[in-house]
Amino acid sequence: MLDRIRIVLIGTSHPGNIGATARAMHNMGLSDLALVAPRCEPLTSDSISRASGADHIVHAARVVGSLVEAIADCTLAVGASARSRTLPWPMIAPRELGSRLPLELADAEARVALVFGREDSGLSNAELQRCHAHVHIPTNPDFSSLNLAAAVQVLAYECRLAWLEAGSDVDAQDDEPHQPLASHRELEHYFAHLERTLIAIGFHDPTQPRQLMARLRRFTLRARPERMELNILRGILSATEKCSATPGSERDEGTP
Ligand code: SAH
Repeated sequence: MLDRIRIVLIGTSHPGNIGATARAMHNMGLSDLALVAPRCEPLTSDSISRASGADHIVHAARVVGSLVEAIADCTLAVGASARSRTLPWPMIAPRELGSRLPLELADAEARVALVFGREDSGLSNAELQRCHAHVHIPTNPDFSSLNLAAAVQVLAYECRLAWLEAGSDVDAQDDEPHQPLASHRELEHYFAHLERTLIAIGFHDPTQPRQLMARLRRFTLRARPERMELNILRGILSATEKCSATPGSERDEGTP
């Protein structure tokens, strides 16, 4: 289970925080680290010394250009944020997040990403809106922002606690018949298709977005669609596109 939890750091600017994150991860048995557009060299004497023997995690870290790339294969992404946002998103407490993980990761194909922001400005709204839920570590409201690696430590600890509590057979719990959930890559393709179609039928004006796509994103992510369900929705979009592009289209067929 712990092998399929990815820590994603976006735009990190201090190598020491990358090293300290690797240490926090290795302490808790996590190993999958992705760095999105880091604003520093990840491997420096500072990061290696702060990793204190967990530098193999920094060496193995995948460096990618975008969040979308970092979480493409994930079935659940949770964004860690110290602040509340204007368009509220489903919130989950750290302990609740941990307790959901054994079930989330019961399917051997499932992967979870925990996404962390920049030291100076955190996560953008667009980045948070790519996540299914947000997690806030309850801190002193007058001083709520933890050091990046400290925030990773707290959530990695919750992952380990949940794994210990679930027992060692957590990875073998996959006996329920199920349909695989859609991955982030599949969801992103769906959102792009949805936006295209809504523009084509005149429902969505990208010059006056009014949070439409963000709201539809929140609604869809909340539903946790299966791959099969997303395929049905994409089929509906294709039929809608075809219908709106055809003059005297099927829309009129059969109407008196
Ligand atoms: N100054 C930034 C916070 C940066 S701290 C801001 O105002 O948003 C770096 C990252 O650590 C954050 O982006 C977040 O992912 C994580 N973090 C820090 N404190 C947190 C908290 N209380 N709860 C959840 N995540 C937190």
